Amino acid sequence: MKVLLPKRNLHLLLEALDHRMEVVAPIRAEGVPVFASWRGQPLALASNPLIPPQEFLLPQRDVLFRYVQDCGRYTFEKVSAKPRLIFGIRPCDLKAVAVLDRIFGKDPLDNPYFDRRRSTVLVGLNCLWPEPGCSCAAFGAGPEVDELSDLQLTDLGKNYLVETGSPAGVLILREHPEFFIEASEKDQAEKKKALRIAGEKLRGGTSPSVIKAAIEKADWDALGRQCLRCGGCTFVCPICHCFTIIDVGVPDGERLRCRDTCILSGFSRMTSGVNPRKSQGERLRNWFLDKFEYIPENIGLLGCVGCGRCSRSCLAEIDRQKLEVLR
Ligand code: SF4
Ligand code: SF4
Repeated sequence: MKVLLPKRNLHLLLEALDHRMEVVAPIRAEGVPVFASWRGQPLALASNPLIPPQEFLLPQRDVLFRYVQDCGRYTFEKVSAKPRLIFGIRPCDLKAVAVLDRIFGKDPLDNPYFDRRRSTVLVGLNCLWPEPGCSCAAFGAGPEVDELSDLQLTDLGKNYLVETGSPAGVLILREHPEFFIEASEKDQAEKKKALRIAGEKLRGGTSPSVIKAAIEKADWDALGRQCLRCGGCTFVCPICHCFTIIDVGVPDGERLRCRDTCILSGFSRMTSGVNPRKSQGERLRNWFLDKFEYIPENIGLLGCVGCGRCSRSCLAEIDRQKLEVLR
């Protein structure tokens, strides 16, 4: 299905959806765009937030279940995912969701991830104004939304062209026909033209093969000394998903899944104190190999979508395309 959503109707549509589920959308907080619970604020759709929307599928602190102890016997309380709609997800971040789906979908299925995933409606936004540092096209992750989204929007000036990608998307259009008007072939042609221009802007971006060649040649000891060990590159990455499990509370409490990162020494250190990846250079190399070799070997998709967030957040200014050391 293809329809037009006049921009004046966008807030009305989100308000209507907000009665049934939590609406998450990019808004401005302290001057910067962030994905957050939408309460009627103006939307900040001009640039992709530094923290990806994956925070709503794989939160930094995820309560897996609660436990209650009574006379030495434990009972467990499952935490249910609430219905949610994430609006304005860029194609790179949608591709990253596809990667997470494959990783968490491998046997044994990760139920807490999929409980949340199944109760989340994804509304993608085609990327017509790529930013410096974006390489989605070379990574097969943009600038057009792929089939993963439930609804796909393209900004055509006064209106959004809205296309459905799943039964959940069709249901939203059927339940709220008052907000939409008919689309024509001309609108489709306009979308194609806008995406062609966006694709041209992305031409020349770094490709995975360039990074793989740089991994082979890099001086990892020197890069390890340049790295400040802040973990920032991992926590802004829409695909990084390392975690640790902790129980908080005795005798009653919660089992938490907290995000962790293989780039910091504590992640690979074993109980005996032995660490198979002793130096920061080894850990940094492992981080790159995971994205460009291990994840592709395991699930058939790259572990990077070229969103550029790791470069934007790196205080040590490690050049992730050339992997050359700052002098
Ligand atoms: S590795 Fe960097 S460019 Fe690739 S998906 Fe993660 S944050 Fe984006
Ligand atoms: S963001 Fe840069 S400095 Fe921080 S851990 Fe990653 S590579 Fe090192």
